[in-house]
Amino acid sequence: MLTELPPDAGPKEILTAWATAGVLTELYGERPAGRLNPLTLRRLLAAADARGPQGLVLALLVQLATAVPLLAETATTPLAERTLAQAADGGTLLALAATDEAAGSDLAALGTTVDLGDGSADLVVSGTKRWVTSASTADHALVLARHKPGRHFTSFTWVLVPLTAPGVTVEPTGTTLFQGSGVGHLTLSGVVLSREHLLGRPGRGLALFARHIAVERLASAAWAIALCRRVLADTERRLRERLVDGVPLRQSASVRQRLADCAVRLSALHALWATSCEKIAVDRDATAAAVLKAASGTTVEHVLTVCGQLQGADGFGAGGVQELRAEAAVFGIGGGTTETVHDTVADRLDTVLSGLAP
Ligand SMILES: Cc1cc2nc3c(=O)[nH]c(=O)nc-3n(C[C@H](O)[C@H](O)[C@H](O)COP(=O)(O)OP(=O)(O)OC[C@H]3O[C@@H](n4cnc5c(N)ncnc54)[C@H](O)[C@@H]3O)c2cc1C
Repeated sequence: MLTELPPDAGPKEILTAWATAGVLTELYGERPAGRLNPLTLRRLLAAADARGPQGLVLALLVQLATAVPLLAETATTPLAERTLAQAADGGTLLALAATDEAAGSDLAALGTTVDLGDGSADLVVSGTKRWVTSASTADHALVLARHKPGRHFTSFTWVLVPLTAPGVTVEPTGTTLFQGSGVGHLTLSGVVLSREHLLGRPGRGLALFARHIAVERLASAAWAIALCRRVLADTERRLRERLVDGVPLRQSASVRQRLADCAVRLSALHALWATSCEKIAVDRDATAAAVLKAASGTTVEHVLTVCGQLQGADGFGAGGVQELRAEAAVFGIGGGTTETVHDTVADRLDTVLSGLAP
């Protein structure tokens, strides 16, 4: 389906093609309601990975796995429902802006504010959101803001911010990586919005974030598997053709060991994905999502490092494995760093271990 699109097609063209082919209905059902079919999601991300570039996969992942389901669960106003319908048709691209100037690993410290007024007045949103995928290409951002000071779980609320609203400025990050992702920084300078832009009940912001970031982690692991599988197969093919003293490098005992080790780690990640899929997609099990996120971050890092080494100098060519490896480091950072998810696993070690009982 994607092969019929022009090579420079952006996320909206891909989403529209999927919507036209009925794939988004297969993903969400007739009307998105916050749930999705994880096997369809995995298939779509694998197709996007095969097409590339990686930045485009990132934009599609945020839209499919997190932004649309979060909007579906919180859209109670006509404006939000209209935006959801357009996003479900691929006609509207959404960004999800949680990280701001404070450490992304400490969401409870975020400084972006939403003034809710007296319950009837307009909303006023102010703050800076950093490293937001699709910031420069999306129509709207789902912005996580605080309506109360302090770190309490109930101090946060989601707001639907049109990126053309007065007071919104988008700045590119300046990175040469993540082509096609539209990643950028958002400045919200006293953005005044009607109350129709409020998403869900005030105070539910972090609870909703936790539910939806779990599915983003499932999606990110699905992408990790597709990426590692593709890079490993490509590396193996190159090593078959590369001769040292007349013998293909693929036959070297040391190379065989390293390829096998990567395949074993990748198989383990695939098995973990398959066993945690329902727990995460249906039950929103945050512990299972943290285990899977940690495993995918470390597996991608290992596989891409080994494949980068095994591809020698050619790996540094334009669009080669070394560039991919720099981008793939995002698996250990975006959507929660490996250390943050390890913290979650450490907090719930008993649960993790009892889940492994025979
Ligand atoms: C390409 C890209 C796209 C992104 N897209 C989005 C998006 O669409 N929406 C969005 O909201 N955010 C997005 N992000 C931001 C991302 O979610 C954050 O980068 C992430 O949450 C980490 O936050 P930080 O970068 O502020 O790192 P920090 O929190 O400042 O952490 C820096 C480093 O400190 C270490 N560290 C952090 N916490 C701990 C700990 N508890 N224990 C030990 N060490 C620790 C880790 O090594 C970590 O990498 C994106 C980032 C990138 C790179």
